[in-house]
Amino acid sequence: MSYTGPDFEPSQPRRSPLRRPLTVAVAALVPGALLGWGVYAAVGGPDDGDGGGSDRAGGVRTSSAPSSGGSAGDDGEKPTTGSSSVPTSEKPSKPSASASKSAPAAASGPLEGKVVVIDPGHNTANFQHATEINRKVNVGTHWKACDTTGTATNAGWPEAKFTLDVAHRLRTLLEKQGATVKLTQDGDRSYGPCVDERARIGNEAHADAAISIHADGSGAGNRGFHVIMPGPVHEGAADTRDIVAPSAELGKRVAGSFVRVTGTAPSNYLGDGTGLVTRTDLGGLNLSTVPKVFIECGNMRDGKDAALLTSGSWRQKAAQGMSEGIVSFLRG
Ligand SMILES: [Zn+2]
Repeated sequence: MSYTGPDFEPSQPRRSPLRRPLTVAVAALVPGALLGWGVYAAVGGPDDGDGGGSDRAGGVRTSSAPSSGGSAGDDGEKPTTGSSSVPTSEKPSKPSASASKSAPAAASGPLEGKVVVIDPGHNTANFQHATEINRKVNVGTHWKACDTTGTATNAGWPEAKFTLDVAHRLRTLLEKQGATVKLTQDGDRSYGPCVDERARIGNEAHADAAISIHADGSGAGNRGFHVIMPGPVHEGAADTRDIVAPSAELGKRVAGSFVRVTGTAPSNYLGDGTGLVTRTDLGGLNLSTVPKVFIECGNMRDGKDAALLTSGSWRQKAAQGMSEGIVSFLRG
């Protein structure tokens, strides 16, 4: 996923005609951090993936899979296979056996009765299943690969490990608030799920909010996070018209909380400094019938961002930022 790559496929995002007035409300949540909440419409990228991000449209590069078991850059960029050693500090905490199970919904809390679906982007074993994940699935507007491998840091730490680790942290935080949380995958599948299924899981759970977690694979020097929101799509099985507005609200709240809690600046290469991007090419968003956003937490290919992404304490803040945004959205 270089900038021109995956997530962003749309290397030349266009300004969306929709600049929202909501901006003001959000800006209030994030004093000084996100100036000018404009919204970019990134049109065109491929991916699907799961996401956004790193999912590049294209396919999987099994040959470049890092020996660490990580995924190859799906986004196109391959991880440096040579340096497969992963600094200890980069190793995400291993989910405990209990963590990998869905915890029962908390009995009480402000989010009691609310359902949140967390979609950990990619799958650490996708690179071993090129045929399966390259199978094309229909996302309404077009056909795209079932899933992608995701990117990795230059040291070979895969995006899929990052996304699952943050998903576990976020699940714990949301359950403490009383929410019922479901993950689309929990390291318990040999590959995938495909992007259409990732969306379907949220739909069938009647999620009040859904979030797909990613990290990008852009060029060095490109830094920061951005939240991807669905644009209006009404084609084939895709109809996002009812979720565009609530998803935008969810996205703004998540971006605002993410900035505040992590202290991390919005992307310096997409979104015009707002940390917000709108896309109409992601299957995970196009096929969703529930409010949903993607978050690209940072750029794994940038050394400074990678230092954050591989830090457990930073990932905890990232999860906290997402959690606070979701809680704010769900409490209205
Ligand atoms: Zn990704």
